[in-house]
Amino acid sequence: MIRKVVLSENDLPDRWYNIVADLPSELPPALHPRTLAPLAPDDLLPLLPSGVVEQEFSRERWIEIPDQVRDLYRIWRPSPMYRATRLERALDTPARIYFKYEGVSPAGSHKPNTAVPQAYYAKQDNVKRLTSETGAGQWGSALSFAGSLFGLDVTVYMVRSSYDQKPYRKMLMSTWGADVHPSPSDRTESGRAALAADPDSPGSIGVAISEAVQDALSRDDTRFALGSISNNVLLHQTVIGLEARKQLEIFDDYPDVVIGCVGGGSGYAGLAYPFLRDRLAGHRTGTRFVAVEPDACPSLTRGAYAYDYPDTASLGPVLPMYTLGHNFMPAPIHAGGLRHHGSSPTMGVLVEHGLIQARSYAQRDIFSAAVTFARNEGFVMAPESAHGVRGAIDEALAAREAGEERVILTHVSGHGHFDMAAYESYLAGTLDDHQPSQEQITAALAELPAAAALV
Ligand SMILES: *Cc1c(COP(=O)(O)O)cnc(C)c1O
Repeated sequence: MIRKVVLSENDLPDRWYNIVADLPSELPPALHPRTLAPLAPDDLLPLLPSGVVEQEFSRERWIEIPDQVRDLYRIWRPSPMYRATRLERALDTPARIYFKYEGVSPAGSHKPNTAVPQAYYAKQDNVKRLTSETGAGQWGSALSFAGSLFGLDVTVYMVRSSYDQKPYRKMLMSTWGADVHPSPSDRTESGRAALAADPDSPGSIGVAISEAVQDALSRDDTRFALGSISNNVLLHQTVIGLEARKQLEIFDDYPDVVIGCVGGGSGYAGLAYPFLRDRLAGHRTGTRFVAVEPDACPSLTRGAYAYDYPDTASLGPVLPMYTLGHNFMPAPIHAGGLRHHGSSPTMGVLVEHGLIQARSYAQRDIFSAAVTFARNEGFVMAPESAHGVRGAIDEALAAREAGEERVILTHVSGHGHFDMAAYESYLAGTLDDHQPSQEQITAALAELPAAAALV
């Protein structure tokens, strides 16, 4: 039996897949943050590299990966695909469970798949410096790594609570040469406003994005880089699913269910969209697609499908998405990468059409899955990834109940080597579960911008 498929460098995809070309209905346009008129590419040029802006608006189905990016992808790609045979046996299931492992990148997650092309397009424009936000530290690490490859300065605004909890993530970014500041900081207007409101503010991804955007807009030589949600990020991540398709062909299998964790949705989209393409073309109509999110930040399962800002200071483009409201403050769960109030626009369309289903889990449930996985398959994963793996395990248990040979595909989006404090709390039994009240969600949704309704 085959346990693992490692492709050769020659099998690296040479094009990214853009699902915008195949969506079952028109993608609603992004809107200008102040006028709420449809956004034009020129509006984004002060903020993002021109190559990134072009891709953000592209409707081409296939977009060529530049040679230099492909060459840098070879540092860690293609990533391996495993069949979780020991986990299958432990669960006593007739299901076949496959996982694509993205923990092999230098930064330890799938995020360099987009950090590298974003740094490449910045370099093409002669940009000297990139700014960004980071929650758990994964995106900041990926961008710091990518910046070092192209000789770009990188400034990262790291959510204060993570900055204090995860000193080694900060050290990783510093090792790649990045400049890391806890957010809220006194370096930007929105940071100073947040500090004035609460000098001990633990910060949030929304505030950190606002700081990074204001910093980028304040200097001509600087652009901003976003780690999830936007079309171009999801596009770059499709290398995951394009490789996975080839690998499953070698396993001689095709998924009945593609399930994975969703924060903004970039890693899951990267895995799932190349398979969804078959479904959208009317083939393989039995395959189900399931997005998994935390109970503590349930944008797809309990949010509204509406226009909203991606950040707390309302600086970014207004996007059509499932959202809990840009002022929603999620509980400080350990899966920091899933603590964003919104998710990606293309995923919104697919959820609206019932092509992607969503479910959510409590924090202790996902750690129990991560520990079961570690004890059978060895890999100790990021708490974010454990949401998708919890879902995969539940699919396998349901297949056992039904006596059904279900083929399950998931991704382990990152390793958990910087998350040992979280594992420590779980193993010590001191971890809490969090669920926002309906009042909290309703209050945050009352602050949506006055844009047209989506449905
Ligand atoms: C950032 C992150 C996520 C969540 O982001 P998506 O855009 O939804 O993929 C998931 N897993 C890991 C390891 C991450 O770093």
